[in-house]
Amino acid sequence: MKYTWRIIGHERLTRSLENDLSTDNLGHAYLFAGPEKVGKFTVAKTFAHILQCENNFCHTCKTCIQIDKNSHPDTIVFRDDGGSIGIDVIRELIMRLNMSAQSKYKIFIAENIERMTEEACNCLLKTLEEPPQNTIFLFTAIYLKRVLPTILSRVRILKFHHCPEGVLIERLAELYPETGEETIEQISKFSLGKPGVAFDLMNDPQLISYYKTLYSDLQRFLDHKGIFDRFMYVKETENQPRKVNDILDILTHIIRSRLMAGDGQPHYTKILDKIDYTKFLLEHNINSKLALENLMLNI
Ligand SMILES: [Zn+2]
Repeated sequence: MKYTWRIIGHERLTRSLENDLSTDNLGHAYLFAGPEKVGKFTVAKTFAHILQCENNFCHTCKTCIQIDKNSHPDTIVFRDDGGSIGIDVIRELIMRLNMSAQSKYKIFIAENIERMTEEACNCLLKTLEEPPQNTIFLFTAIYLKRVLPTILSRVRILKFHHCPEGVLIERLAELYPETGEETIEQISKFSLGKPGVAFDLMNDPQLISYYKTLYSDLQRFLDHKGIFDRFMYVKETENQPRKVNDILDILTHIIRSRLMAGDGQPHYTKILDKIDYTKFLLEHNINSKLALENLMLNI
């Protein structure tokens, strides 16, 4: 490949983006879809660098530095701040896209566009259909099903997947040569195929001990049926949405590993179904205490 992409994995996707550029076949709108923390936003940002920098993504020119800091006038970046993207934001964006560009492209990067209100989507549609010259939209989404079909039909969708543990181990060892093999293996295991989590863990020893505790707690729950313990745990956890998600992810990982080792079918298969159902309930705003207690009763 011609450029250094600052991500782990997704080589097929980045190669296809480079190919679009070198064969003059750039789409005017891309949607990078897939699980959180796998590198979708980083790919969007890196692609913006590659498109805008006059020196082959040099990392050092004014353009590169401004894009890094999200202050480049022709590269507009919308990070997910937890809120929705309303029509006012899109109106202002369209105005900015129509102003004359000082760079090669006008680029709009928006993280998790499922946050866009229906009104905002409809407002954006016409611009997506007939964008101002040299405008490129780079969107990310975790839940494709929540993006309006009218938007989906106007973008090139690239699907991101979890990164295989072996690839994570190999790349982390290259990037952090001073870190011990055992730590790297442990971090790769804890990050469950999400390079973004792996980077967080590399930089935060407290986070590692948080994951260690979660793993040992959940393994204990699976092997011993102390209902009182479990309910106390739910009580401590119910108001921490991040922890609830982590619990469900790690539980899935532990059970899948046990299944792969040939243990406990069909009991474990049933638990996996229960976990999926719990995720479904939580996504539909069912009380998290109720959903978790129900799961704990069934594992
Ligand atoms: Zn540059």
